[in-house]
Amino acid sequence: MNAIDAIYDKVVARDPDQPEFHQAVKEVLESLEPVIEEHPEYISIIERVVEPERLIHFRVPWVDDAGEIHVNRGFRIQFNGAIGPYKGGLRFHPSVNASILKFLAFEQIFKNSLTGLPMGGGKGGSDFNPKGKSDGEVMRFCQSFMMELWRHIGQDCDVPAGDIGVGGREIGYMFGMYKRLQNEFQGGVLTGKGRSYGGSLIRPEATGYGLVYFAREMLATKGKSFEGTSVAISGSGNVAQFACEKVLDLGGIPVTMSDSSGWIHDPAGIDREKLDYIMDLKNNRRGRISEYAKKFDGVTFTAAGPEPTVNGLWGVNVDVALPCATQNELNGEEAKMLVANDLIAIAEGANMPCTPEAVEVFQESGVLFAPGKASNAGGVATSGLEMSQNSLRLSWTREEVDAKLDAIMVNIHKNAYETAKKYGRQGDYVFGANVAGFLKIAEAMQAHGVV
Ligand code: NDP
Repeated sequence: MNAIDAIYDKVVARDPDQPEFHQAVKEVLESLEPVIEEHPEYISIIERVVEPERLIHFRVPWVDDAGEIHVNRGFRIQFNGAIGPYKGGLRFHPSVNASILKFLAFEQIFKNSLTGLPMGGGKGGSDFNPKGKSDGEVMRFCQSFMMELWRHIGQDCDVPAGDIGVGGREIGYMFGMYKRLQNEFQGGVLTGKGRSYGGSLIRPEATGYGLVYFAREMLATKGKSFEGTSVAISGSGNVAQFACEKVLDLGGIPVTMSDSSGWIHDPAGIDREKLDYIMDLKNNRRGRISEYAKKFDGVTFTAAGPEPTVNGLWGVNVDVALPCATQNELNGEEAKMLVANDLIAIAEGANMPCTPEAVEVFQESGVLFAPGKASNAGGVATSGLEMSQNSLRLSWTREEVDAKLDAIMVNIHKNAYETAKKYGRQGDYVFGANVAGFLKIAEAMQAHGVV
């Protein structure tokens, strides 16, 4: 057995009940074989990089509107701080557990490294479900969550942001409680803040916009562009909405969106007016995507199946696919359907939305495939830009932030593309992103000694 396989086996043996974490580790370790041939000394780095520096697990009690007491679990994984303060979002969703957060935090290490900004990898959250809760209940939950988390974070130590179930409202409540407990206005302690108290322009749009900038670069390697290209998008949350907006900006035609209740297919295309409707439906009225099919002609709605995936969405004939909902939402069979329809490119907006079988199908068929750690890095990159503005006590204009985001995505694409090419794996963005992200971390960890 080689040394990398032995490390993987140890990861599985230590935490046998963490399948999502194993999946994320396996994908990275598989890419590192040629790196180890060049740098045998990095084996001990790999051994350390798969173990979180710190895993914080705490109780979050809160009181609902009827006076009932509830107890949720809170987590923060401070996975790797070699190149900067821990950085990564908070997820509030009933599925949250240590395995999911460890997979997300592990991915975040390499994603943050790829952005070129000084950010370590972290992630956190809770199994709290904000759906159907009143504003008051969400506020009391966020305050209770922060009453524990505050002692572990800080603008030079660990900087959380949003993720599934954590948007501007939740970040605001948590920032307020942090400010009260710390008795300091630490602008840079959270990102994704509102504009009035230190948030950055373009941060809400950044993951979706960045995803499309990255996909634009992928298409360009084949001499193609978004102009007139049909696009399947899953999800209808933050990432999906702004991916849809940027696809429209670049002349593409988005034809699907989904939520956990099902998905819609609009063959005429989701135009700006229809996207405005979706944004209002999801962000203000907090409704279901099925309402879209009732509002607009010629649209079909398909209800979700028993699995938390999109039940047929990937069977729609499109040129580009942007999965933007959640992990493991696109399996091997669905990948085959996309390939059979002559898909050109797929870029992950969500974290690990494609199963390993799906990734294999894309790579074997020559479809361009970008892993989330490269293609969805625009969100955390803009969080990094928000931290820079907080430190400078300055606000950049929308155009300035958007231009920096675009340049970062172009650079991540180039870095992943060129690294893959250097190792004779041209077009393999998984390999290129893993290796480019890892090399920077490894160099820093080597410099720090055994800590
Ligand atoms: P949101 O909560 O805003 O939206 C999530 C969307 O996915 C919603 O439409 C939701 O439907 C749907 N969804 C969530 N879970 C499931 C499920 N189990 N089955 C089917 N549909 C589901 O989250 P974001 O848009 O912020 O995040 C989406 C993905 O992108 C996540 O993987 C996240 O980690 C990743 N990401 C997000 C970044 C960001 O900046 N926000 C940065 C980088 C990655 P419903 O409304 O019914 O719950």
